[in-house]
Amino acid sequence: MELESMYQTLGVSRPVYEYGEAVLASLRQRFDAVDRTAEYNQAKVLAAMQKNRVNATHFAATTGYGYDDEGRDNLERVYADVFHTEAALVRPQITCGTHALTVALSANLLPGDELLSPVGAPYDTLEEVIGIRESKCSLREYGVTYAQADLRPDGSFDFDAIRSKINDRTKLVTIQRSKGYATRPTLSVGQIGELIAFCKSVKPGINVMVDNCYGEFVETVEPSDLGADMVVGSLIKNPGGGLAPIGGYICGTRACVERCAYRLSAPGLGQEVGANLGLMPAFYQGLFLAPTVTAGALKGAIFAANLYEPLGFACVPGAGEDRHDIIQAVTLGSPEGMVAFCKGIQAAAPVDSYVTPEPWAMPGYDSDVIMAAGAFVQGSSIELSADGPIRPPYAVYFQGGLTWYHAKLGILMSLQKLVDAGLARL
Ligand SMILES: *Cc1c(COP(=O)(O)O)cnc(C)c1O
Repeated sequence: MELESMYQTLGVSRPVYEYGEAVLASLRQRFDAVDRTAEYNQAKVLAAMQKNRVNATHFAATTGYGYDDEGRDNLERVYADVFHTEAALVRPQITCGTHALTVALSANLLPGDELLSPVGAPYDTLEEVIGIRESKCSLREYGVTYAQADLRPDGSFDFDAIRSKINDRTKLVTIQRSKGYATRPTLSVGQIGELIAFCKSVKPGINVMVDNCYGEFVETVEPSDLGADMVVGSLIKNPGGGLAPIGGYICGTRACVERCAYRLSAPGLGQEVGANLGLMPAFYQGLFLAPTVTAGALKGAIFAANLYEPLGFACVPGAGEDRHDIIQAVTLGSPEGMVAFCKGIQAAAPVDSYVTPEPWAMPGYDSDVIMAAGAFVQGSSIELSADGPIRPPYAVYFQGGLTWYHAKLGILMSLQKLVDAGLARL
């Protein structure tokens, strides 16, 4: 068959290809549901762009201070309408997701305030931001304390513990939607809404920030639809649609976003400055593509779980589970398994397909990390990528794929490398 021989040319053997096709045959209904969500979200993005009369003048580059940057200001109105918030800050000057989260936290916490995570430990890089791991310029150095309520062993919220951790200094609650590098389940937007309502019932007036990384457009609602005061994320993940080469966003209440703008630039300047450097076409077009790009990545994640779980590799989420982000954790059980998996993802890439990924120390992470990514935008994890810290249980976190077909090839190649290394048997 023509397609099968093309896969063979790319390095996927007939047994791996046929196993993949058998798995896929069982996933048609799941994929239909993903497509329906994408269709809704495409309409949501289009409605926001039409309402704000997006036109060619919005794509003009600005330099220097960036005063009266209409393209930038209008993009922020579009984002605010997509996330149903009063305001938004969407900037190339926000360098990554961690930076966006740092801006949101440090702008809305003052000395003496306490930050609460009711969902256990935050993402690795936030440990230094908060000061859980000692770090220069952490929130802790500025006199902001941190409290944490862990999830119950089954992944549910521990409401009694959360209530007991909320005190008169608790100012901001941070909720991480995606599991990140943990093996806990990702939270649905519905669960996040329930948690927000609970925190606000214990302490009215408390602000809630959601780390929305990897969750955007996976469902038809976002945490900002269910009471979050800020949703925060990276443009080299879902909402950049693979086209944004840098950037982050913070959507939320006018009061919170205004403070974020003052923190990002300077008190008094806020959102008025910040040239767009010619990135507006990529930001607008990337947002336009984001719902379908996210859907492709989601299909890849579902396919990976259904491919690997029957072979005895534990997957989070499990093969049959609902999805609330685009990350698929596959527990390979050994450093060699992680390396083989990542080699396959790398070999399937459009860029840098000939390089071999190796574990390495990374800033912000406390163990060696292996990363596979052959991306057009360096480090972009909405593009097909796999990474994970080299520590038990030796799980690889797999995500992205600008097209479903590329995600499919990458996953088949990862399995091929495991089979070739004798680490998996069909
Ligand atoms: C990726 C990610 C971050 C940090 O984003 P960077 O762009 O890597 O700094 C924070 N939280 C979660 C849940 C993430 O997935």
